[in-house]
Amino acid sequence: MDVTIIGGGLAGLIAGLELTRAGLTVTLIERKTYPFHKVCGEYVSNEVRPYLESLGLPLTGMGATRIDRFQFTAPSGRSLETALDLGGFGISRFRLDHALYELGKREGITFLLNRQAERCTFSGDSFSVTLNTGEVIRSRLVIGAFGKRSKLDKQLDRRFMRRPSPYIGVKYHIRPAENRPEFRADTVALHNFQDGYCGLSSIEDGNYCLCYLTTRAQLRRFGSVPELEKAVLQRNPYLKAIYGHSELLYEKPEVINEVSFAPKQAVEDHILMAGDSAGLITPLCGNGMAMAIRGGWLAADLASGFLKGRLTRAELERRYRSAWSDQFDGRLRVGRITQRLFGDEWLSGAAVSLFGAVPPLLRGVIRRTHGEPFNDWRTPAKDLISG
Ligand SMILES: Cc1cc2nc3c(=O)[nH]c(=O)nc-3n(C[C@H](O)[C@H](O)[C@H](O)COP(=O)(O)OP(=O)(O)OC[C@H]3O[C@@H](n4cnc5c(N)ncnc54)[C@H](O)[C@@H]3O)c2cc1C
Repeated sequence: MDVTIIGGGLAGLIAGLELTRAGLTVTLIERKTYPFHKVCGEYVSNEVRPYLESLGLPLTGMGATRIDRFQFTAPSGRSLETALDLGGFGISRFRLDHALYELGKREGITFLLNRQAERCTFSGDSFSVTLNTGEVIRSRLVIGAFGKRSKLDKQLDRRFMRRPSPYIGVKYHIRPAENRPEFRADTVALHNFQDGYCGLSSIEDGNYCLCYLTTRAQLRRFGSVPELEKAVLQRNPYLKAIYGHSELLYEKPEVINEVSFAPKQAVEDHILMAGDSAGLITPLCGNGMAMAIRGGWLAADLASGFLKGRLTRAELERRYRSAWSDQFDGRLRVGRITQRLFGDEWLSGAAVSLFGAVPPLLRGVIRRTHGEPFNDWRTPAKDLISG
């Protein structure tokens, strides 16, 4: 076996597809079974749309919505809107990841579903990955695409795991009542509330994704998700109207804990980390999925250079670290700084006034958290890296 990929979200699925298309043998281990829901705002930047379509995903036919406006509201109900230069589309992870899985299966990725990687060790120039079933998978290379937080982070003793993170994420799909002005298919909205913010964007079949980030302390204070939503989120009049005029499509929300935005390493113990395993951008940027897709492509492209004998392992790791940092460090930094404007009643109100008075400033911030359109996929990654 050439490559084991741990985690079948966007980063893992893209890396798997690229590697099989390069003629390499790939096993992908995923803890769950497709299709499944995921905590994610489901607004995808157009940065990666041409690339996804080039893989064979008919996004429009799959029901993706077109989004080219942004709305930002403060807890007081003050609101600001702007056009998005690059824009994006809305589609559920349930549908997007499933379509990539089906494509990967057809193209020859060996999927091990419903299995969890518990240990990964490197010795004698190859890897052994031990699963919860007791199986051991051996390969020349491992790509770690296991998302924000995993058992493996603990086993690898990664630095960000030593500091607990206060953030939690909550997500639902909702169906709006007809003709409500709070729901506009062409607009991705960020509604602020005390100690958090909530994204709303259209997805397939006339539904919307409602997804928010807040702190564990808030949830503890109010005891339950519905109580927290009533007491805190719905103080923002936009959120009150959204909850009041929609039907929740899940019995209970998807919730994740310990969402950490701390810097991570792109290579750990010879494993190439891709997507959130290498670093998570703050969700308000609406950009994590585009980064996971580009990161998966980058890892696969350099990995294939190593597996075909064009790069040594040391060169592979050095180039991957440097390419990852060239492409993503800047966005992560701006995302962390911008997040401070959110979740504070006074600051988010001031941000509405400031950005309202100087519209180019808001567009500048949006541009700096987004990458350039991803047009490089036909160029080998090694040609994109200086060092
Ligand atoms: C609240 C919130 C809102 C967001 N909103 C947006 C948005 O609107 N737009 C956007 O672009 N980004 C958004 N993001 C970010 C985006 O969701 C992530 O950046 C993206 O999902 C990263 O993809 P990934 O493939 O790295 O990880 P994931 O999609 O998380 O995939 C990781 C996979 O690994 C599997 N796994 C984990 N551990 C193991 C193991 N040990 N063995 C086997 N499998 C394992 C998991 O089951 C999972 O399927 C948001 C994030 C949060 C927290």
